[in-house]
Amino acid sequence: MRNGTGSDMPVPLTRRSVLGGVAGAVTAPAIGRVATRGSRLHIAVIGAGVFGAWTARHLQLAGHNVTLVDARGPANNRASSGGESRMTRAAYGKDSIYTRMALDSLAQWKELGARSGLPIFIPAGVLFFFPTDDPYLADSLAAHRRLKLPTELFSPADMARRFPMIDPSGVHAALYEPGFGALMARRAVQTLVHKFVADQGQYLVGDVAPPREDAASLGSIRLSSGETIAADRFVFAAGPWLPKLFPQAISRRIVATRQEVFFFAPPPGDRRFLSGAMPGWADFNGGDIYYGFPDLEGRGVKFAHDAHGVEVDPDTQSRIPTEAALAEIVAFRDRRFPLLRGAPLVESRVCQYENSGNGDFLIDHHPHLADVLLVGGGSGHGFKHGPEVGRKAAALLFGRESVESRFSLATKALTQRRAVH
Ligand SMILES: Cc1cc2nc3c(=O)[nH]c(=O)nc-3n(C[C@H](O)[C@H](O)[C@H](O)COP(=O)(O)OP(=O)(O)OC[C@H]3O[C@@H](n4cnc5c(N)ncnc54)[C@H](O)[C@@H]3O)c2cc1C
Repeated sequence: MRNGTGSDMPVPLTRRSVLGGVAGAVTAPAIGRVATRGSRLHIAVIGAGVFGAWTARHLQLAGHNVTLVDARGPANNRASSGGESRMTRAAYGKDSIYTRMALDSLAQWKELGARSGLPIFIPAGVLFFFPTDDPYLADSLAAHRRLKLPTELFSPADMARRFPMIDPSGVHAALYEPGFGALMARRAVQTLVHKFVADQGQYLVGDVAPPREDAASLGSIRLSSGETIAADRFVFAAGPWLPKLFPQAISRRIVATRQEVFFFAPPPGDRRFLSGAMPGWADFNGGDIYYGFPDLEGRGVKFAHDAHGVEVDPDTQSRIPTEAALAEIVAFRDRRFPLLRGAPLVESRVCQYENSGNGDFLIDHHPHLADVLLVGGGSGHGFKHGPEVGRKAAALLFGRESVESRFSLATKALTQRRAVH
């Protein structure tokens, strides 16, 4: 990660950044224009995953002085944002709040991509197919019509004609979103943090210790190195680590589950599995969803099972894929993508979802610490919404928006009953 001095080393803790109240010059606006204001505050954002990085960026664009801290690095290997690719789509059934957010976020992803050397967004299109006349389909179509989003409804025969690499057996209908596709996840977050630093944002490697939750405000955070960072406000966007930082406020309102992802090599020279020919896709499969991508940048054709795996600790869970998960994916692949039978496994990843009780995000104030905002609960679908989550978090911090009830801490249950897909 490059820092503001142009070096590739992490930005060291300087006296000014440790004490807070840094007043650096603001130059070279990247996405949007960085505002300069008289009332600049120093804000510390903890967690440089997709939610923290976009929050830091929006706060910076609003003219504030922002320090972004991460224990392991932006979109690191253990972070939920650390994968190769993430799907962006607007289809959300009845939950059209996310349709709007996905659309508004996509514009910001495209803007970031326009300023980066390598692709951030790949417009592969997204195909959702359903075995029954699922209300999710009708609700998604209605939301798409309201927002005038280009959408196509396919019969199984249309689907087979358009995407012959997918076997449509048992499919009732399919929804195709040509304007959406894949986000190159790790690259996207690292590009964003790079822009943030280039515009005089401070990025620090530091492991923030769990704060006392019973005080009226925080004032400063302590790193495991013993250093402290003072700031006017704090945003904790620590993904699956949020419950460890705030065992009282978060407790089991966010639960991390093990998720395994597999990539298979298509036959050499075969163009049918490239984006343009093959879309991003999800098989609703009676509620037991599988999803994947075409062969993006030669990593292989991606397959994953969306069902929540076992509960895990993001620090200690094994990152070695299980034979059982691989066998399950191969069985699905061979049925739905028969042209890939026998395709060799070329890569696998073990990650985690950080699930709220029903899948809604958390963007709310800490119940006691007046200067702390909590952002998280991406629940296996958060990545695409990073830009809008960051914008909403920044607006909430300064009272420009009020807490959206679905994103409030009060609506977060202590038990898991997934409702948002
Ligand atoms: C396999 C898989 C597939 C997915 N597919 C999709 C998809 O197709 N589409 C989609 O939209 N979403 C998808 N998601 C969900 C999405 O990736 C996540 O919701 C999102 O990345 C969460 O981002 P985050 O910033 O909240 O958390 P993270 O990315 O986990 O970031 C949290 C950061 O906080 C840091 N941190 C934690 N504790 C501390 C501390 N004490 N001090 C300092 N730093 C700390 C960590 O190091 C980490 O970098 C998927 C997730 C997974 C795992």
